[in-house]
Amino acid sequence: MSKTDLKLIRRLSDAFGPPGAEEEPRQILREELEDVADEVHVDKLGNIFFHHRGEEGQPTVMLAAHMDEVAFLITFIEDSGFLRFHPLGGVTPTVMPGQRIVFRGRQRPLRGVVGTKPPHILTEEERKKPPAMEELFIDVGAESADEAEEKGFYIGMTGVFDVEFTELGGGYVRGKAFDDRVGCAVMARVFKSLEGSSCNLIAVGTVQEEVGLRGARTAAWQIDPDYALAIEGTFAADVPGSKPHQTSASLRKGPVITIADASVIAHPKVLQTLISCAEAEGLPYQFKKMPMGGTDAGSIHLTKAGIPSGTVAVPCRYIHGPVSVAHAEDIENTALLIEAFVRRIQS
Ligand SMILES: [Zn+2]
Repeated sequence: MSKTDLKLIRRLSDAFGPPGAEEEPRQILREELEDVADEVHVDKLGNIFFHHRGEEGQPTVMLAAHMDEVAFLITFIEDSGFLRFHPLGGVTPTVMPGQRIVFRGRQRPLRGVVGTKPPHILTEEERKKPPAMEELFIDVGAESADEAEEKGFYIGMTGVFDVEFTELGGGYVRGKAFDDRVGCAVMARVFKSLEGSSCNLIAVGTVQEEVGLRGARTAAWQIDPDYALAIEGTFAADVPGSKPHQTSASLRKGPVITIADASVIAHPKVLQTLISCAEAEGLPYQFKKMPMGGTDAGSIHLTKAGIPSGTVAVPCRYIHGPVSVAHAEDIENTALLIEAFVRRIQS
C-alpha cells in the first residue's frame, strides 16, 4: 500500500462525520476524485456521486461506501454542567467509560470525556455489570448548564470518538471510524484505477448508514444501477478468547465477502463474479462467517425493481468502538478485488 493511500486513510479516519453531518469526509472524497470523475454531484440528503462514463450499452455498477460513523447526540444538559447523550449507531456501553469525545463547536473543536461513578463508591452488585448507556454522561469541564452552553455545547449537537490515526508498524494501522472510512478509501482507489476504462461506474459516498442504511436507499433509487457493491469495514474477531466458529473474519486473510447478513443475501451473479475474480487474480479472500449486521447493500438491493448486490469488506478489529485495527495488506487486496469485479461484471 502506497504512502498516498495511507495518507488518505489517515485523513478519512480523522475526519469528523456523525450520521447526518458527513461534510468533512464528503469534502475529502470530493478533493480526491473530482479531477478524475466525468461528473460529481451531491443529492438532497448529502450523498455524493462520482460518475465514470465508459462505453454506451455497458451495464452500470454502483459502488457504495458510507461516510458516517457511530456518534453521540447531546440530549440534555444537567444543571451541574454534565451532558447526557444518546448513541447514533450501534455502540455498546461496555466500551464507553473513559472515552474521549470531540464535538465540532462553532469556532473550534470542543472536547469531553465519558464519565461514570468512581469504582470506589459502587455497590458489589454494580461492580459486576457494565453501566447502562443512560447512566453515562460526558464531562466537558463545565460547572453549570450555562457554562456548558457558553462553551458552545447545545442539545442536538453530535460528537464522535476523539482518536488519532496511528501506524502500529508491520502494516497494522489504528484509528477511529474504519467502518467505513477504509471503505471510502478503497472506493476512491478503485475509482481512480478505472480511469480510462470502458466501465460505467458510479461511486457513491453515502450518508446515515449507521442509523439504518438510509442514504444508500435514495442514492440507489436515483441511479438505478445494474449491479451494486457495498464496500465496508467489517468486524474481525481474530482475538484471544474467540472460538473458531465465532471468528467471522480475520486480519491478513484478505477481503471479506458476504454471502448473507441480516440485511441482504448476496446476488448469485455478484457472489460468483467476486469469487472468480479473486481466484483469477490470485487474491486471498474469506467469507463472512457470522450472518450478523447489515450494510448499504441491504437497502440498495430492494430499490426499484431490485438491484443485484453484494458486500465486500476490509476486516477490522473492534469496529463500533473507539478505535479499530486493520492491516494495509487487506485494504490493498480489497481494492484489487473490487477493481477486478467492476471490469469483469461488464464483460
Ligand atoms: Zn459500516
